[in-house]
Amino acid sequence: MKILVAVKRVIDYNVQIRVKEDGTGVVTDNVKMSTNPPDDNAIEEAVKIKESGKATEIVAVTVGEEKAQETVRKALAVGADRGIHIKADGVIEPLAVSKILKKIVDKEKPDLVFMGKQAIDDDCNQTGQMLSALLDWPQATFASKIDVKDGKLEVTREIDEGLETIEINTPALVTCDLRLNEPRYASLPNIMKAKKKPIEQLNASELDVDITPKIQQIKVEEPPKRKAGIKVSNVAELVQKLKNEAKVI
Ligand code: AMP
Repeated sequence: MKILVAVKRVIDYNVQIRVKEDGTGVVTDNVKMSTNPPDDNAIEEAVKIKESGKATEIVAVTVGEEKAQETVRKALAVGADRGIHIKADGVIEPLAVSKILKKIVDKEKPDLVFMGKQAIDDDCNQTGQMLSALLDWPQATFASKIDVKDGKLEVTREIDEGLETIEINTPALVTCDLRLNEPRYASLPNIMKAKKKPIEQLNASELDVDITPKIQQIKVEEPPKRKAGIKVSNVAELVQKLKNEAKVI
């Protein structure tokens, strides 16, 4: 069984995001970049499935600028076998990414596609769903547990009411939640070994996919500063404030 895992390079989740002075976006120069966190869970799950003997190959794929290759390299260091980097500059919207990934799936013919549930830069939560629609494959989104069965997957997913367990036939697409597993760190020897693993590079233009953005971003601005809270000394004062100042009771 072959697993294709989509990994995206995003601003590291620990970075304090700053908006550019001209409001055209957020500052990315000299800012630490990392793999989108749930994509680390997607890779980890693929590696665990391979370690259990149920998968034979893991291919990590990314769409992005030259440096996005680092994200594929990191996936190779934790257990992916080979990588694919589709070079594309600027903002690539989820629909364009899913169309590009569809071409890669058509070529690679994986049995499973694993992705993150959401990218922490655009917060879209769209690419997996769009790709499954383009492929006409079953999807299981927000997976917090995956059991691989013969020709099927049993997936427990996070929903508003709690947990839901579904069974889907393979080939299938799964988007992974942070609760799915604990991603491992790459050891130094594995980082060295990953340097020798192959990464195929393609230009998005070679794939005959229109990647021009369909959404025009008008302005990016900081959220309004929150007012400082106050401490009340007793319940009576709290009730009085809720009644007369906040006017909520
Ligand atoms: P989004 O729909 O943007 O929230 O992204 C959901 C998931 O799609 C991510 O967690 C990644 O697994 C995948 N994805 C989105 N954009 C890219 C990209 N440029 N390259 C590779 N994978 C991506």
